[in-house]
Amino acid sequence: MKSVGEICSDLIRFDTTNPGSGERPAAEYVATLLADAGIQPVVFESAPKRTTVVARIEGDSPEALLIHGHLDVVPADPAEWRLHPFSGEIVDGDVYGRGAVDMKGSCAMTIATVLGMKARGEKPRRDLVLAFLADEEATGEYGAGYAVTERRELFDGVTEAISESGGYSVPSGEDRVYPIAVGERGTAWMKLTAHGVAGHGSRPPIDNPVATLVHAMSRIAGHTWPVRLTPSVAALIEELSRITGQPIDLERLDAEAERLGKLGSLFKAQMRNSANPTMLNAGYKVNVVPSSAEAHVDGRYLPGLQEEFLATIDELLGPKITREFVSLEEAPSAPYPSSFFDELAASLVAEDPLARPVPYVMSGGTDAKSFDRIGIKGYGFAPLMLRPDLDYFGMFHGKDERVPVAGLEFGTRVLTRLLT
Ligand SMILES: [Zn+2]
Repeated sequence: MKSVGEICSDLIRFDTTNPGSGERPAAEYVATLLADAGIQPVVFESAPKRTTVVARIEGDSPEALLIHGHLDVVPADPAEWRLHPFSGEIVDGDVYGRGAVDMKGSCAMTIATVLGMKARGEKPRRDLVLAFLADEEATGEYGAGYAVTERRELFDGVTEAISESGGYSVPSGEDRVYPIAVGERGTAWMKLTAHGVAGHGSRPPIDNPVATLVHAMSRIAGHTWPVRLTPSVAALIEELSRITGQPIDLERLDAEAERLGKLGSLFKAQMRNSANPTMLNAGYKVNVVPSSAEAHVDGRYLPGLQEEFLATIDELLGPKITREFVSLEEAPSAPYPSSFFDELAASLVAEDPLARPVPYVMSGGTDAKSFDRIGIKGYGFAPLMLRPDLDYFGMFHGKDERVPVAGLEFGTRVLTRLLT
């Protein structure tokens, strides 16, 4: 039987860059591993080579748990890396390559966990659905988005899900804090258009849409979004105060986030909405004022705050700019406190006595948003013990992405505890 480190290496060697040539070879590899262990996978494509693998394992209770991961990765430039990003080489106990952390390592843990359980003849406590998806690194349209609309039946009976971006260790003195995601900020990607009067560039400006647009972008970029502590973020801050033994001052949270370093980054981007101008497009000739100008803004809002977010955006834009959504996604949140969260936490503590599991909200988004649409409550839980020198989120989409084999083995033990 292949080890979790070997499976991770193998997966990294399939170049599943998105955009690129698709996930098919990696998906076929996963399907073969599962089939060889007697788990019958369903393999489907939303478009040629955009391949997803789903498998169901019967457990003692029909209330199913979904474990999903994505097989695609973001691009990597070999010139910037110490080792080739698709080598999957293991050096000094670390597997190197694009996707080691995000999230082929996690997919390898899921596979190693179920193969191990099969080999030992262990049945999961509840039905288990595994999904290895295409296209998470874009919009998920060819992966999770397609799966929940076109292959909805594969997820019948699923109540909860676990996936990426949580359950990893963050050093805190003698302890290790493990943030478990209980929600994500929502996405509001917007295209903004300013309309005006076209004319010669030498004339006094009448109604110049380029000027209107840049003034509005400047207001958005300069806006200080007010702190809005949602219950999960408030709970995290309280837990961190307790764990570090130093109360966190709610009146000066930005400074506190700085003081706490890596721990502070767990709430720094999660205590308010945000909007960043990211694209500008206007004009075609230096001496012509165009009749319109366009910009794109990446907006993110906390669970329950979509209305407030959009009202603020409209105020900042003013009357001359129209907005439309390129993508509008709800901000999902999973129950916390909850007995399932406690199960996740207990499985970590059982393998790491120094573990201090805490709830947190993701600043960005994952496939959990798609599954939330069909009523599946998602938790960010891909258990991983990291050495203090490895910065988990620094490696997400970063260069020299790598994951310790020992960390993957730890995660596999935690998952096995959770499932059996
Ligand atoms: Zn990911």
